[in-house]
Amino acid sequence: ALILGIESSCDETAAAVIDGNGTTLAARIVAQRIASQDEAHRPYGGVVPEIAARAHVEVLGPMVEAVLADAGMTLDDVDAIAATAGPGLIGGVMVGLVTAKALAMAADKPLVAVNHLEGHALSPRLADPSLQYPYLLLLVSGGHCQILEVAGVGQYRRLATTIDDALGEAFDKTAKILGLGYPGGPAVERLAREGNPKAVPLPRPLVGSGEPHFSFAGLKSAVMRAKDAQRTFLRQAQDERSEANPETQNPARPEPVEGRQPYSDADIAASFQQAALDCVIDRTRIALATAAPGMTALVVAGGVAANAALRGALEALAAEHGLPLVAPPPKLCTDNAAMIGWAGAERFALGYTDPLDVAARPRWPLDDNAAPVRGAGV
Ligand code: ATP
Ligand code: MG
Ligand code: FE
Repeated sequence: ALILGIESSCDETAAAVIDGNGTTLAARIVAQRIASQDEAHRPYGGVVPEIAARAHVEVLGPMVEAVLADAGMTLDDVDAIAATAGPGLIGGVMVGLVTAKALAMAADKPLVAVNHLEGHALSPRLADPSLQYPYLLLLVSGGHCQILEVAGVGQYRRLATTIDDALGEAFDKTAKILGLGYPGGPAVERLAREGNPKAVPLPRPLVGSGEPHFSFAGLKSAVMRAKDAQRTFLRQAQDERSEANPETQNPARPEPVEGRQPYSDADIAASFQQAALDCVIDRTRIALATAAPGMTALVVAGGVAANAALRGALEALAAEHGLPLVAPPPKLCTDNAAMIGWAGAERFALGYTDPLDVAARPRWPLDDNAAPVRGAGV
């Protein structure tokens, strides 16, 4: 089936045409477009819901027309329209969902209301046609950090979640502390490549605990203290230097003072990333040990799955357990409409469609997703 997919739950506006019968990734994504609002939110250091919703309104209509044109199609050619119905920023979700409802009504096509997390959860099947259910999924995004058994469409059993921050949130906060701007994950990863992951001692919250849950708030606080300690060190070093030699400028790379070893922002980034990854690997190892038998693969999805260091570490962990690691290409890890269209295609193939009064849901746990969506009007 041909599905038009729409995504607008956060700060990317995206539309895609998916061929659910395609046997390769290239054949499955007939066309896709994505507009990031990074520039609009950058001055605020994070997503501003009102700005996001307004930007979705401006961009989405023309984008749907454009992506259909890219695909060489009209709305009449698609079999169903799939849109994110939550969870996410409610204003943005409503823009996408209402647009999808209007298109469905105008063209007399079925609507598929997609859980954004299901989009992430099934994106590895879009990318790798050989991936079979059931698989163990590490879902690491800006708002979520969970481990789930995925037994089929709508069949999720959650083994673990975070008790405070999501992993992507921890990357974003670290980026903010280091002045790297928004969005932070890719910037932290880039800077971490130049640093020493052992330079700054940081905690590994919950490592060793018997249940595979996550916690990142303590790690973030430790990063903040490390940055403060670095500032203090640099100030003292500067004072001592200018007393010795008033000509000395602010050095780009801090130098040791009387045997006290300084560390750079790159060292903080690398040490943070290492600590976070150590947590994720330890927690995922526990989940692999406690998961139901028969998992065909270890799978990672969500924005943080774009992180190369994480992918490498998970690859080794999966190999330890004799499992393949399946990770979508980085561009399908962060928010996009291809994954929403694909989840729509999987649902549509099973006969799951939704009424035009289906509600947008700001909160919507994935393991509460067994049945097709039902609800009152948006
Ligand atoms: P959710 O899917 O939970 O609703 P979201 O849609 O905002 O949240 P995603 O778009 O899936 O989240 O992921 C965005 C997150 O991924 C951000 O926190 C971002 O910093 C992080 N991220 C993206 N690329 C990388 C990377 N290379 N390394 C680490 N983190 C990354
Ligand atoms: Mg984004
Ligand atoms: Fe997302």
